[in-house]
This record gives sequence, structure tokens and C-alpha cells, in this order.
Amino acid sequence: MPIVVAVPKEHVPGEQRVAVVPEVVQKLTKSGYEVWIEHDAGMNAYYPDDLFTAAGAKVASSRTGLLDGARIVLCIQPPTVADIDQLSEGTIIIGIMNASRNLEAVAHMRDRKITAFALELVPRITRAQSMDVLSSQATAGGYMAAILGAGNCPKFLPMLTTAAGTIRPATVLILGAGVAGLMAIATAKRLGAVVEAYDVRHAAGEQVRSLGARFLELEINAEGQGGYARELTPEEKAKEQQMVSAAVARADIVITTANIPGRKAPLLITSETVAAMRPGAVIVDLAAESGGNCELTRPGRTVHEHGVTIMGPQNLPAQVPFHSSQMYAKNLQSFLTLLVDMDGALVREYTDEILTATLLVHAGEVRHGPTRELLSGGGQ
Ligand code: NAD
Repeated sequence: MPIVVAVPKEHVPGEQRVAVVPEVVQKLTKSGYEVWIEHDAGMNAYYPDDLFTAAGAKVASSRTGLLDGARIVLCIQPPTVADIDQLSEGTIIIGIMNASRNLEAVAHMRDRKITAFALELVPRITRAQSMDVLSSQATAGGYMAAILGAGNCPKFLPMLTTAAGTIRPATVLILGAGVAGLMAIATAKRLGAVVEAYDVRHAAGEQVRSLGARFLELEINAEGQGGYARELTPEEKAKEQQMVSAAVARADIVITTANIPGRKAPLLITSETVAAMRPGAVIVDLAAESGGNCELTRPGRTVHEHGVTIMGPQNLPAQVPFHSSQMYAKNLQSFLTLLVDMDGALVREYTDEILTATLLVHAGEVRHGPTRELLSGGGQ
């Protein structure tokens, strides 16, 4: 019997991506899976049903029937309680679970004995790079942030020498040079801007310079666990804000991506700093969902303060859904290889390091420690 994989249409408003694309369906069916996709699941990402059927998928007209018959469900956003109700005991569901913000769904999956893998918990080790949805989607987000910044800036980005005069290139500043920041740097460079960047991790400096941007040096190195940044001390924060303010004031576009896992995003741009910016400058705050790097950011909104446009976009990867879906689907394809043995049967024990790290709920238990603590009323 083939393993039945189901791909529902994403339900969150504004979510345009789909978890699987036709190219990946073809690979999965070749490996022996039977893939079912909900009618119009790929429509908003420009993958119509007929491309899926040509790749070997079957299209389900009823979401209930699709979920009910699945052995594995592949999704992007966490499942709703109503969807979980349709799943049979032991169904495996794989997606971005954002467990701390979806405790009700986690508890429901536990009680209904669903097995859930949370892809945002994929460890950042070399072997797991092809499964790393945080990286693939941050790449899309960083790209879109640069495009949004350019599209809302009243200036050209490149230097132009024309019969109507010479135009000086715009200056783009990137704060936080992780995956999204590096992609924003690369995109702004390709658009011809002069690019400066800053990160609290010194290791980021070399990557920034290799993209042809200038790295702003500050005597702080806040390299924390697992290659992530640690929170700064109050003295370090004050020093950082002072240096950042000077760079922000000379920029035409500022893209902020600074984050510390599990914490509120660090405040890098105060309202006084915004007031000192050039008229027409743009801030694109990619940390809007985790509290914002700019004091004036409003999540999901664009505001105008002191002549500056401040954008707090949410779910930017969904704004470039064709390629975000493609990358996400490849990540899933790679992840699925861990779940089957040499004979193509589902593994019974989740002993692989990547499976242990991502296993959120299994056999009636919440396996992820921090989520278990939150559910029992402890944690943050
Ligand atoms: P992230 O989204 O958690 O944070 C974005 C950036 O913000 C980071 O570079 C961080 O250093 C920076 N930051 C935090 N506080 C700051 C502050 N006060 N001022 C300025 N910058 C600040 O990070 P991410 O993009 O997910 O990547 C984090 C790390 O993980 C990087 O070292 C990256 O190279 C590494 N990584 C490893 C792998 C792998 O090995 N498989 C894959 C992806 C990323």
C-alpha cells in the first residue's frame, strides 16, 4: 500500500504559498507515495490543479475527505483545531507549528494522538541545511524587503549618468546580517545601491564584505549559542543605538532583521532616530512580528512619521509565493527522506537527531520540552 500524503490549501488570510509544488509531487510519486492535493491549493502561488495532476497528484474536492484519508499531511501554517479533528489517530503532520503561539492546536494534537513535526525546529547543522525552512523562507523575506524598500523610496537606487544630470546612488543600511539580511544586501547591491550593514556577531562581517557591502564595526561581539546572537547588556545596547543612529541618519532605505530566538526583537531605531532621518527615507522592519527593531513600527502596517515611511510587513515570503513554495517543498521532500527506511516503509522509531529535534507531539505526549512547560502553565 502506498503512503498517502495530503496537501491542504493554506487557510490563514494572506497566506499564498502551498506546501508542495508539482516538481516535488513528481519526485514523491516516483518514490512510491500517493499524493493528494486539495482543489486550488496551489492557485495563489500560480500552480494550478492541472499541473499537479500532470505531475501525478490526485485532486480532492473535499478538505474533510482529504484529511481523513491521509497518512502524512504536509502544510505551511499550523493546523486548526477543526482540521485536527478530521485526522485519524497516528497521522503524521509536518509544517511550521509556531507552538508557543498555537498551544490549543498542540494540546489538541496531543489528545488526538497525532504525530507532529515542527519544521522551524530543524537544527542548524550541515546535514539539515536542505530541510531548513527558516533559511529558505528568510531568503525570500530578505529579497522582498529590498524590493519593498526600493519600491517605496522616492529615489533611484543606482548611480546614473544621464544627459539630464548625474544621480548619486542611494544608501541602503541593513541591520542584522543573518539569512534574510544577507539576501537583502545582495538584492540591494544588484539594484546598484551603496550598501552598509551591521550585526552583533563579528562572524557576519566577513559574509557582509564578501557581498561587496561595508560592515559597520562596533566593539561588541554577541555571538551566542548555535550561531545565534545573545541579548546585549544595557551598556552594549546604549553603545549600539548611538552607532546605529548615525548610520540610520545617512541612509535612504533601512532594512532591519535583527532577532534573538525566543525573545522580543532588540530595539535598534528609536523615534528620535527616525526624526533625524532624511525626508522620504524608508524603513522596512522584518522583525515586526517579534516586536519590531524600530520603535514606530506597527506590525502589518505602513505608517509615515517625520517624513519617513515605516513598513512592518508580516509573512513576506507569502508575497513571493511561487519561489517560496518551491523552496519550502524541496525542504519537505528532503525531510521526508528521514521518515522512510530503505524499503520505503515509515520508520517506527524517531531516533535521527533531526527527527528528535523537530518532534513536537507524538503518541499522546508533547515531546518538545519548552512547549510542554508552556502547556503546563510554566515557561515564559
Ligand atoms: P535570526 O533571524 O535569529 O537573526 C537575524 C540576525 O540578527 C542575526 O544575524 C543576529 O546576529 C542579528 N542580531 C541579533 N541581535 C542584534 C542586534 N542587537 N543588533 C544587530 N544585529 C542583531 O538569525 P538567522 O538569520 O536565522 O541566522 C542566525 C545564525 O544561524 C547565523 O549565524 C547563520 O549563519 C546561522 N545559520 C546556520 C545554518 C546552518 O548551519 N544550517 C543555516 C541558517 C543559518
